[in-house]
Amino acid sequence: MQVLVAGGAGFIGSHLCQSLLKDGFRVICLDNFLTGKKANVAPLLSQPKFLLINADISKPLPEVLSEEKIDYIFHLASPASPNASSPLSYMNLPLETMDANSIGTRRLLRLARKQKAKFLFASTSEVYGDPKEHPQPESYWGYVNPIGVRSCYDESKRFGEALTFVYIRRFKLNARIVRIFNTYGPRMDIKDGRAVANFIVQALTHEPLTIYGKGKQTRSFCFVDDLVIGLKKAMLTDTTKGQVINLGNPEEFSVLDLAKKIKRATGSDSPIKIEAMELPEDDPEKRRPDISRAKKLLNWQPKIRFSRGLKKTITYFQDKLAHEQK
Ligand code: UDP
Repeated sequence: MQVLVAGGAGFIGSHLCQSLLKDGFRVICLDNFLTGKKANVAPLLSQPKFLLINADISKPLPEVLSEEKIDYIFHLASPASPNASSPLSYMNLPLETMDANSIGTRRLLRLARKQKAKFLFASTSEVYGDPKEHPQPESYWGYVNPIGVRSCYDESKRFGEALTFVYIRRFKLNARIVRIFNTYGPRMDIKDGRAVANFIVQALTHEPLTIYGKGKQTRSFCFVDDLVIGLKKAMLTDTTKGQVINLGNPEEFSVLDLAKKIKRATGSDSPIKIEAMELPEDDPEKRRPDISRAKKLLNWQPKIRFSRGLKKTITYFQDKLAHEQK
């Protein structure tokens, strides 16, 4: 069986490729390296069942994807960091983000139809915007600012969801959508800009941990290994055709608590600094997934405690920073 992972050199995509290879699948990893890194998949390049293709899904897809039989298509290709201070943020790549989730999704859906492949669209908790329902079940339609600074991401993901459902209704495509909540782990980019990456790097480099807003906003963080199991189950479980499924960890805490946990776990002397009293524009005040559907349909729930996942992530960043200093 052959799997195409679009965005396979990204943070989550590379873990997915690695795990699928371990399960015995042939894996084609497609990436344009806008935010993905070759280093993320470098250890996989020597495996005979792994093929890396440098291509942009918003441009005509490489011929080889029509010539080879493909059984499953995961679409994870999009910038995903919201922090404007990061060069990798969708806020600094708004057109590329919108193209990947609109034109790119269309091209991959067309390929899935032609190949009679099963399709999974990686959507996001950001489709819920700044939610007025808490925790967020899949039935919640969200509260999104359509012209705000985050809208290039939120709205293009919403468009990608709508497109996926047109293919499900009109062409009976075997497709599903997963809405991924905050995820962390090894291979996050040092410049990623998201809270977990920023706080760990700041703690390890003796810089102040930068809190935006008063730090009372909440999030729930899922370790990447748990998430990858959920992604595979969402694709491979028979009953998920035409379903939308939240994947994330329901353990919720404030951003200030997150900073304190990271300061403690690293033993850092960095101060925790309130950067600005106001939250960044359209920054959600709270976020926690309702994962009842994933539990029921996939028999899935996160297993890795935050303290354990954090330890592994800190070790990764320690190695990465040491390597950079050489
Ligand atoms: N955040 C912060 N300091 C940072 C990075 C992020 O206080 O250096 C906040 C951010 O404003 C948000 C929360 O942490 O309220 C989570 O942000 P992240 O970028 O991880 O992802 P989001 O949940 O907003 O998609």
